Amino acid sequence: MSYVDEIIEAVVAKNPSEPEFHQAVKEVLESLRPVVDANEEKFRREALLERLVEPERQLKFRVPWVDDKGQAHVNTGYRVQFNSAIGPYKGGLRLHPSVNLGIIKFLGFEQIFKNSLTGLPIGGGKGGSDFDPKGKSDREIMAFCQSFMTELYRHIGENTDVPAGDIGTGAREIGYLYGQYKRLTGRYEGVLTGKGLSYGGSLARTEATGYGLLYLTKEMLKMNGIDIAGKTAAVSGSGNVAIYAIEKAQQLGVKVLTCSDSNGWVYDPEGIDVAALKEIKEVKRARLTEYKNYRPNSEYHEGRGVWSVKVDLGLPCATQNELLLEDAKQLVENGCIAVAEGANMPTTLEATEYLQQHGILFAPGKAANAGGVATSALEMSQNSERLSWTFEEVDAKLQGIMVNICHNMADAAERYGYAKNYVVGANIAGFEKVVNAMLAQGIC
Ligand code: NDP
Repeated sequence: MSYVDEIIEAVVAKNPSEPEFHQAVKEVLESLRPVVDANEEKFRREALLERLVEPERQLKFRVPWVDDKGQAHVNTGYRVQFNSAIGPYKGGLRLHPSVNLGIIKFLGFEQIFKNSLTGLPIGGGKGGSDFDPKGKSDREIMAFCQSFMTELYRHIGENTDVPAGDIGTGAREIGYLYGQYKRLTGRYEGVLTGKGLSYGGSLARTEATGYGLLYLTKEMLKMNGIDIAGKTAAVSGSGNVAIYAIEKAQQLGVKVLTCSDSNGWVYDPEGIDVAALKEIKEVKRARLTEYKNYRPNSEYHEGRGVWSVKVDLGLPCATQNELLLEDAKQLVENGCIAVAEGANMPTTLEATEYLQQHGILFAPGKAANAGGVATSALEMSQNSERLSWTFEEVDAKLQGIMVNICHNMADAAERYGYAKNYVVGANIAGFEKVVNAMLAQGIC
C-alpha cells in the first residue's frame, strides 16, 4: 500500500466520527501524491505524514455561562494547535451549534496549507465552540466570551497562538474576548486579530476575505484569457465573507444575482443591493426574509437553491459541504465557467471532481479565501510595529498576496504535470514550505 493510502486509512481508524476531518485529509493527501511518491523513503523515515495529520496539541474545555434569566448553561470550547512549523498558530474561532472536534480539526488542518500559501510566517490552528450566538442578547454573548477566554487565555499569546473570527465570531465577539484577555493577563498585545480599529485592528480586515476572493478569481480568469468584467455570479451566504465578496464583485463589474442564509435564499435580477444586505445582516442582525422590503422585485425562497441560477461564476461563501454533486451538475449545465471557494471546503469532493472534469476553473478555499488570514497577519505586523497602515496600503498588500497565491498554485500544478488543477497546485505549494520547515527542525 502506498504511504498516502496508509496514512488516510490510519487517520480514519484513529479518528472515528470525524468525517469532515477525514474529508480534508483525503483531499490534501490525494493531491500530494506526486510529491510524496517522489520522496517516499525520506518522508517515511521521518514519519512526516504521521506528524502532519496529528495536531501538536488539542484543547477541549468547559465553558459555563449564565443567561439573562439567571439560568446557567455549559458549552464545549475547543482550540486545536495543529502545526507551528512556519510560525505561531493562527486561525479563527467558530461559534456554531454544529461545532465539534472533527470540524475544528478539519479547519485547523486546512489552515496549515492556507497560511503557508500566503507567504507569511503563520502556523495553522483553529478553535471555537458549539455555542449558538443567534438570538442571544449582547450581555449573554459577553458572558459566554468572557468565560471562553477565562480558559483559553493561558494557551495563547502574540508569539504562540493568535485566534481570529470565523462563523459566529465577528467584531463584537472579538472585542469581548480581547477585553477579557487583557483583564486576565494585564497585557496589551496583538493576541487576537479582527480587532476594532480603536484598539489595534487593521483597516481592510473586515473586507479582506471577500475582497481577496475576488482578487484571486479575477487573476485566475485573467491567466485563462478571460475578463471578469461583465460576468454574472451566484454567491451563497450573507455573512462577512459573502457581503464583501458581493461588494468587490460589483466594483469589478460583476452582477451578483443571489445570496443566502441557513433558512433560504434571495434572487435579485437587478443585482444584490449590498447596502441593504449590510443593514439587514450587520446592523439589524435579521433574516434574509427582510430583503424583499428593500427590493420588491427580488424573490425569496425557503431552503437551498442558489446554484440553480444561470451564472458565469459560483462563489460559495457560507459553510462546508454546501455545494453538492447535483449543484455542480446544474452549474455545468447552465454554462458556469469558474467556481472559487470563499468558505472553507464548501464543495464536496465529488462536486469538485465533477466541476474539474467538465473544464470549470476551480479555486479551492485554502487559496481563494486566504485573504482573511493574510490580512490578519498584516494586523499582527502593525501591532508589533505599534503603527497603523492606511486602507490603501493594506488593500494593495492584499491584492499582491492574492495574485501571488494564484500564480504559485498554478505554477506548482504545472510543475507536477497537473496544469490548471488548482486543487493540486494549492496543496503542493502550501505543503512544500511547511515540509521544508518540518524537515529542517528535526523530529518534533
Ligand atoms: P458568518 O457567520 O459571518 O456568515 C456565515 C454565513 O453562512 C451566514 O449567512 C450563515 O447563515 C451561513 N451559514 C452558516 N452555517 C450554515 C449552514 N450550516 N447552512 C447554511 N448556511 C449556513 O461567517 P463568515 O462569513 O465569516 O464565514 C463563512 C465561511 O468562510 C466559513 O466557512 C468560514 O470558515 C470561511 N472563512 C471566513 C473567513 C473570515 O475572515 N471571516 C476567512 C476564511 C474563511 P445564518 O446567518 O443563517 O447562520
